[in-house]
Amino acid sequence: MTSIVINFQMQNQTVGYLETVKQVSSHDQTLNWLEALWASWYLYMNNDIYATGMMSFLLHEVIYFGRCLPFMICDKIPYFHRYKIQTKIPTLKEQWDCALVVLISHFTAELPQIWFFHPIATWAGLAYGVPFPTWSKISLQLIACFILEDTWHYWTHRALHYGLLYRHIHKMHHYYSAPFGLAAEYASPIETAILGAGVIGAPLLLLSLTGDLHLFTMYVWITLRLFQAVDAHSGYDFPWSLRHFLPFWSGADHHDLHHKVFIGNYASSFRWWDYLLGTEASQRKKQNGRSMKIVIHKEE
Ligand SMILES: [Zn+2]
Ligand SMILES: [Zn+2]
Repeated sequence: MTSIVINFQMQNQTVGYLETVKQVSSHDQTLNWLEALWASWYLYMNNDIYATGMMSFLLHEVIYFGRCLPFMICDKIPYFHRYKIQTKIPTLKEQWDCALVVLISHFTAELPQIWFFHPIATWAGLAYGVPFPTWSKISLQLIACFILEDTWHYWTHRALHYGLLYRHIHKMHHYYSAPFGLAAEYASPIETAILGAGVIGAPLLLLSLTGDLHLFTMYVWITLRLFQAVDAHSGYDFPWSLRHFLPFWSGADHHDLHHKVFIGNYASSFRWWDYLLGTEASQRKKQNGRSMKIVIHKEE
């Protein structure tokens, strides 16, 4: 934290969170509302490891399940079914069963790891004080994170489709051949660790190369990456979906096809790796439909 905030913390250790926000806002009027909420959280918690751990876990839960909600509502409104890529609408029971597995994984596999994040990341030089970096800097770092993570995801996901790796690790994620939002993180803990290493590793690599990254940027990145993952599994391709405006953005149709045909379309956010290396699912289907069918049966 900045020295202003540390001095402030020493005088106000017993007040509630909202009172802390009020006092921080009047103490330093240069802070915007988000920076004031952020600084107050660390002051209120009075333990940076707990503060980051709890904020990270809550952010993940709220964004993940919150982003799934609009798609669950679309499932209930027939008007939106015209935008469904595959015709199958998941039942509430299917979605609840899936959510339960995802929740258990969040509490057992992810929560313990989250507590190690703060000490490791701050040791590596991650900043978490106020004010936040400028939006132009955040935007550039986000683009770098998307490119780095997409590359990691392409190669590791492609590797996870080979033999034993598929059968013992990745097969669980392919349980749903017509995916829906909640299925985005329905995966074995080993797969979550392998693919999650790209999500956490991309910004940390950036930090090690440039020596400049803020925890807030990391949260924006994780939020956008969660949006991408849930959207990709949503099963909906709307006329307003991002891929219609950014032709190299993968979108739901790209990953939905991966779940449907099991091979091809391995990248997460962009289409370029699959395009350049000839692993686009539709392309392979067109050019080599017969041999692909054989592989599908073998992998199933
Ligand atoms: Zn896969
Ligand atoms: Zn998937």
